Amino acid sequence: MPELPRRFQSRGLELVSPIWPWSGYVGQGDGTLRVSSPWGERTHPVTGAKKRFHNGCDLAIPVGVELRPVAVGRVQKVWDDDDINGHAIRIEHVEWWSSYVHLSRVDVHVGQTVSPSMVIGLSGGAKGAVGSGRSTGPHLHLSVWVADDNGRPETVDPVPVIDWRPLTLTGAV
Ligand SMILES: [Zn+2]
Repeated sequence: MPELPRRFQSRGLELVSPIWPWSGYVGQGDGTLRVSSPWGERTHPVTGAKKRFHNGCDLAIPVGVELRPVAVGRVQKVWDDDDINGHAIRIEHVEWWSSYVHLSRVDVHVGQTVSPSMVIGLSGGAKGAVGSGRSTGPHLHLSVWVADDNGRPETVDPVPVIDWRPLTLTGAV
């Protein structure tokens, strides 16, 4: 299992049973899920701009998969902007946050307490579809932030945070 980000370790934070943010969906072939675009520096798939920082990872899942929060938390923001994110949800955990972007449906409201036993929305991302924002094909953009020393969100790679392991049917919730 990959190590948790330094921020989590240095602050003594532990993730309580983080899970994959969807249910009942198994990825391709060997059961692993494809990361179509990793967190970090990259060439933007739409603009072609170099070195645009990608503040999440893109997971290649089809439209309409039920999404669950990666941990217990409270819905901090639900928004919709056509030009970038489309329909999106941000959840506040204890000193860290997660967000779910390009959704085809949102099932929660601000202030609501959520847990991995709940569906918070459906995946989306199909080009030109409602809720997709600037997305060229079905995927989930998942972001994670950890509070810095001033309490401000600092982006981290979601992969080690949610215990990136091959997805199996029994691993899905
Ligand atoms: Zn993305």
